[in-house]
Amino acid sequence: MAVLVQKYGGTSVGDAEKIRHVAERIAAAHRAGNSIAVVVSAMGDTTDRLIDLAQSISATPDPRELDLLLSTGELVSCTLVTMALREIGEQAVSMSGAQAGIRTDTAHGSASIVDFDAERVQQALDAGRIVIVAGFQGVTHEMDVTTLGRGGSDTTAVALAAALGAERCEVYTDVDGIYTADPRIVPDARKLEEIGYEEMLELASYGAKMHPRSIELAAWYNTPVLVASSARDVPGTLIHEIAPSGDGAPSGDGAPAGAGGPEEGAGMEVANKVRGVTYERGVARIPLRAVPARPGIAAAVFEPLAASNISVDTIVQNASAERLTDLSFTVDSSDLRAALQVTEGVAGAIGAEECVSHDNLGQVSIVGTGMQNAPGVAAVMFSALAEAGVNIEMITTSQIRITCVVDEAQVNDAVRTLHAAFELAEG
Ligand code: ASP
Ligand code: MG
Repeated sequence: MAVLVQKYGGTSVGDAEKIRHVAERIAAAHRAGNSIAVVVSAMGDTTDRLIDLAQSISATPDPRELDLLLSTGELVSCTLVTMALREIGEQAVSMSGAQAGIRTDTAHGSASIVDFDAERVQQALDAGRIVIVAGFQGVTHEMDVTTLGRGGSDTTAVALAAALGAERCEVYTDVDGIYTADPRIVPDARKLEEIGYEEMLELASYGAKMHPRSIELAAWYNTPVLVASSARDVPGTLIHEIAPSGDGAPSGDGAPAGAGGPEEGAGMEVANKVRGVTYERGVARIPLRAVPARPGIAAAVFEPLAASNISVDTIVQNASAERLTDLSFTVDSSDLRAALQVTEGVAGAIGAEECVSHDNLGQVSIVGTGMQNAPGVAAVMFSALAEAGVNIEMITTSQIRITCVVDEAQVNDAVRTLHAAFELAEG
């Protein structure tokens, strides 16, 4: 019997009626002859409300207590879904993360799964039961409850699928898949039938909503993940291993055959190389001018930032002239003030000139494994942005992504421009 793992997000289990609807869906998949384990998020905005509640009692709640509190959100939803299944005649049983065998490290609030002993889940499945596991949580070797970080139920689901050797993990949510761009900005954005793990990882960490660690896990265990709507019966997006193919041959591996296929008929040399456009707002840039070009300087700048728990995103350093160089980097706008405090001290110590920082920036990225050996892609991106009058402040690249830092006010324009330039709307 095929083992399937399904995951339902917070909006999908937002009230009693939705919970009944989810139970019907789970039951249908079970009756179709599958062995089903389900992971649920907390109902609606429960986690936010619990955090607010904690903060109304203590400005800095103890991390252990906060985790135990937050874990209750998923206990509520998993037990209610189980009851709904039993109401419609299904044999179902709920389990907390600890009961399901999820061991984590002790990093409260952002714990990592160190071991998943799915024995008990497997036994229940073998007995013909549907198992509903509370997402987002685990337990340390000392039996303290931990949470995996915001959005962590995705990671629970993929980890469970991997631990059970499931055929695939189906993530049901309030959107019906992964799009070539945010449909709120680009009305003709197209839903992707499939996307590779690597590409999804770049999209997930640059705006589109999947817990990035879930994609890392899926890639590591080669567990296909289907992202689809819990409300509508339309095909979703399959995240899976896509063989790199220069000619864009459809992989056909379980992906629904769409009209024409997404890879056909693009006229332009660089079309097909890009899978999607993504963006972020709330980016701030801190420039340091006339930094001495000698070993240890970058470390002197970035170590204290790391020590203050400020994560630095894009870093650009110029080729040095006269043994001085310019260095600038971006941080989240919400970290700007703290980052400035740190760099002011450092700039003084190393004799650099600190310049005015820029807030109100954003970034746009194009993502696609096909761009690895396609030198034309960057040029198309830059000239499209130039034609649209978008000034590029900084550029960074990975093998499969090019990111431009731009004025926050121009982010929407930039996204639309790039979506059109790479012909992403039409398959
Ligand atoms: N309930 C948790 C959150 O809101 C985990 C999740 O939904 O995935 O972050
Ligand atoms: Mg989520």
